[in-house]
Amino acid sequence: MGIKEQPKLPQFRIVANILLAVSGLFLLLNLFLPGLFASGPTGVPYSLFIHQVQEGEVSRVSVGQNQIIYQLKAENAEPAQVFATTPIFDLELPKLLEEKGVEFAATPPPKNTWFTTLLSWVIPPLIFIGIWQFFIARGGGGGGPQGALSIGKSKAKVYVEGESAKITFADVAGVEEAKTELVEIVDFLKTPARFTQIGARIPKGVLLVGPPGTGKTLLAKAVAGEAGVPFFSISGSEFVELFVGVGSSRVRDLFEQAKKQAPCIIFIDELDAIGKSRSSNGFYGGNDEREQTLNQLLTEMDGFAAGDATVIVLAATNRPEVLDPALLRPGRFDRQVLVDRPDLSDREAILKIHAQKVKLGDDVNLKAIATRTPGFAGADLANLVNEAALLAARNLREKVAQEDFAEAIERVVAGLEKKSRVMNETEKKIVAYHEVGHAMVGALTTGNGRVEKISIIPRGMAALGYTLQLPTEDRFLMNETELRGQIATLLGGRSAEEVVFNSITTGASNDLQRATDLAERMVTAYGMSKVLGPLAYQQGQQAAFLGNGGANPRRAVSEDTSKAIDSEVKEIVETAHEQALEILRQNRDLLEAIATQLLETEVIEGEKLHDLLSQVKPVANS
Ligand code: ADP
Ligand code: MG
Ligand code: ZN
Repeated sequence: MGIKEQPKLPQFRIVANILLAVSGLFLLLNLFLPGLFASGPTGVPYSLFIHQVQEGEVSRVSVGQNQIIYQLKAENAEPAQVFATTPIFDLELPKLLEEKGVEFAATPPPKNTWFTTLLSWVIPPLIFIGIWQFFIARGGGGGGPQGALSIGKSKAKVYVEGESAKITFADVAGVEEAKTELVEIVDFLKTPARFTQIGARIPKGVLLVGPPGTGKTLLAKAVAGEAGVPFFSISGSEFVELFVGVGSSRVRDLFEQAKKQAPCIIFIDELDAIGKSRSSNGFYGGNDEREQTLNQLLTEMDGFAAGDATVIVLAATNRPEVLDPALLRPGRFDRQVLVDRPDLSDREAILKIHAQKVKLGDDVNLKAIATRTPGFAGADLANLVNEAALLAARNLREKVAQEDFAEAIERVVAGLEKKSRVMNETEKKIVAYHEVGHAMVGALTTGNGRVEKISIIPRGMAALGYTLQLPTEDRFLMNETELRGQIATLLGGRSAEEVVFNSITTGASNDLQRATDLAERMVTAYGMSKVLGPLAYQQGQQAAFLGNGGANPRRAVSEDTSKAIDSEVKEIVETAHEQALEILRQNRDLLEAIATQLLETEVIEGEKLHDLLSQVKPVANS
């Protein structure tokens, strides 16, 4: 990457780290040296020492605080033996020694004592700092190596223009609205006069909002690449520390540095980590540390007037709904830019950008790939291209072929194949009917996309077999019939098990979960229940998004309403279940035929599958 990180005060960190290492070493030496290298006197029990003194065998004694070293009288020509013992509190000892005519003295204090004393003063604080640093590094989401002395300093990375391959707006496809907004910011930083002349007030804060992987961080980097001004980048999670007050001092430090280097940009990624609504964080005033950090951020953003220092704060979040309203007030993040999932043409453009990095075969049709990947974010598409390239390499191809992309899409959607998971014959049979059940119900109901493949080769985390349905177009709205169709399709697997084996296995639990979620959202979020009417029974705005995972917490409702919701959800699921059962009963022969074939080949896909599924007859009486 062309963007380089400008290290901040590296000498400081290095010195601090060396100090830590050296003192640690000393500590270790202190602990182990005496034992390791002291080839000195043999240790004996105190009682033996006293005994030897009384016997008159001892010639000299040196009494220390922790050790008594003594020498025996030289016998024959042998050198005098030296022993050591640990003293006990014995006031009689000097008397005894004098009585026996032993030469004795107290051990003089060790010569290097000033050094030892110094160490004993220096080491404990250093150890403490070391531990502190360890916790901070962990608490700070594992940010890079930090010096002990950088506590409380902002960890912001300063990006400067790199010489090679910097990220620019050309590297970001789609998201035109966001780009327009950000181009304006860059213009302003480059030529502020043009704006201030006509009295235009420049926005202080721009908040990029959108689902994960849609290119928010990438956009910010592109701004850095385009702007030609210093760019301070920090992630919100790095502000949140173990120690109250550290986060807020970081914020202060960050803005101080930024003001010195104005005009410049501050980018706070994952703003929600600090910006969570203050009222929503639970009992007893919530998280003090985060609250202080947030307050400091608000203060700093109010602190600089648009006139003096041109510091623009850019931030990104994928959870705007949890942000504290104070952050979104005019004068703070007064501009919010939606960075949404790409639509068809955007996806094609993003694929084009990432496909430049790999060798493409002639048969590759990026548009067709874009068509088959609704709901994929930019990051998913980048990943897809890479997966396809890996597959091509594994297949010893020189260029990436369309079929590599097809397999890559499947991997991303359904997970990796797990050929190693061996099912017994009965299980295989159940899975085969189960998947054919999904496929046949899916073929008759709308709102599912087209069934492209059924397989009983295990894939991904949980699936024993799977049915791959790929949308034929981008869908932003769905009607009730289509949602009911989706639920019926989800129940198709279990229904097939019921029809054929007259029993149910555990394999359908994920299907049931999804079907129930969907039904619940129809009732509580989309207002599709006649009984309950067009009311939102879920909290939060997210409920309105299509294809958004699980259900939100329910609004507080009366017991009656709650019962009514439950019975409506149940009604929707059961109706869909009946529909699925009916389809499969009336097409029982076809079900047998396709399942038998699937058991033989393990996979049915493409034209062959379309042919088979086109024979599914609609239910007679509906
Ligand atoms: P976010 O910050 O929104 O979660 P990122 O900016 O980290 O997403 O995106 C991750 C990666 O996905 C980028 O590095 C880039 O390779 C790819 N990507 C995402 N969106 C786009 C886009 N609009 N154009 C090109 N590449 C994209
Ligand atoms: Mg990001
Ligand atoms: Zn299933």
